[in-house]
Amino acid sequence: MENGGGETQKWNFKGNNSLSKASGITVSGVLNSLMKNLNPSDNRQILRLGHGDPSHFPCFYTSPFAEDAVVDALRSRQFNCYSSTAGILPARKAVAEYLSRHLPNKLSPDDIFLTLGCTHAIEVALSVLSNPGANILIPKPGFPYYEAVSANTDLEIRHFNLLPEKGWEVDLDAVGALADENTVAMVIINPGNPCGNVYSYEHLQKVAETAKKLGILVIADEVYEHLTFGKNSFIPMGVFSNIVPVLTLGSISKRWIVPGWRVGWLVTNDFHGVLQKSGLVDSIKDFLNISSDPVTFIQGALPQIFENTNEEFFTKIKQILRQGADSCYEKVKEIPCITCPSKPEGSMFVMVKLDLSVLSDIQDDIDFCMKLAKEENMAILPGSAVGMKNYLRITFAVEPLTLEEGIERIKAFCLRHTK
Ligand SMILES: *Cc1c(COP(=O)(O)O)cnc(C)c1O
Repeated sequence: MENGGGETQKWNFKGNNSLSKASGITVSGVLNSLMKNLNPSDNRQILRLGHGDPSHFPCFYTSPFAEDAVVDALRSRQFNCYSSTAGILPARKAVAEYLSRHLPNKLSPDDIFLTLGCTHAIEVALSVLSNPGANILIPKPGFPYYEAVSANTDLEIRHFNLLPEKGWEVDLDAVGALADENTVAMVIINPGNPCGNVYSYEHLQKVAETAKKLGILVIADEVYEHLTFGKNSFIPMGVFSNIVPVLTLGSISKRWIVPGWRVGWLVTNDFHGVLQKSGLVDSIKDFLNISSDPVTFIQGALPQIFENTNEEFFTKIKQILRQGADSCYEKVKEIPCITCPSKPEGSMFVMVKLDLSVLSDIQDDIDFCMKLAKEENMAILPGSAVGMKNYLRITFAVEPLTLEEGIERIKAFCLRHTK
């Protein structure tokens, strides 16, 4: 009798090979392969300075008010239902009001589309802009998820540089040179991942004017909104929606330190109604009709989360981040093979430059991180993973002692490999 799993049986299905390429270029993909290099006989604690998820550290636990909001929403039994597409009205209203606190042109709930975190918002934005021949301008270094998503669309990616010596501002001349009549949008990430930049009002205005001149919209990834601790405070790109149409992407993942709650938003800042007229708003609705919605009871908690979370929580988080950024910046100065071109003023990361000429047996940033993982039981992200070879991205959003120990290990590693 024929055995179903036997040699003679043929099956028609197999895995989709093209996915492994897209998944390899995400931060998780790179970090997962780094972790395979850890030395199992090293008994020291594994230090994770690669990821941007501080939710495990007690000093970064979310506000009890946010937890209560979720519990109350759950217990109310009003949110056991399916969500409506784009999100339930009270949640969209709450997001509109929350974001409008910092905008001259107030948003309406119809401008808000709730998503499964900011990653889903990126997917929606790029998918609705995708048309054969179209291209999009994204920053280098940047957030690799944009490349990963584009790989599954018709969008061609073109990179413009961020300028390390200018606080990682956008090279606007490069943007002008890259764009053509098929360019549809440019992406900015502010506050920045991986660079820790926070753009000034003047720079954002120039971005808006440049985009207007090119006839393209701005996708503003503001998932780190308000996580700033330097000279510039956070200015939402939507402030400039009278100049250029803006799609704002965000979530509660980073500011509330709850990336597992999976609620984010895509927002149309459409002062002149251009996004509406172009058909983009309809495409967003169409796309959301065929994708999943964020969990209804977390949506139901949003009004209370925004209303009840007190300033002390945000102030405390920013203080820990500021201390982390400062101590990282100062301690890195003592390490001969790395330099920091620009002190981070926001988000959770700093980019530092690797000087390979002083190292004896390190080929590049990836080699550095692989050997560091093996010898020091720790992870940092090679710059190549975010488009910047021979740089390193260090996460300072960790417990202060973990950060201190991590920088010490990097230092010991560098000294051991110095010529
Ligand atoms: C973390 C991050 C995201 C994803 O946010 P989620 O809400 O966790 O999906 C998007 N963009 C940037 C730049 C990020 O760092």
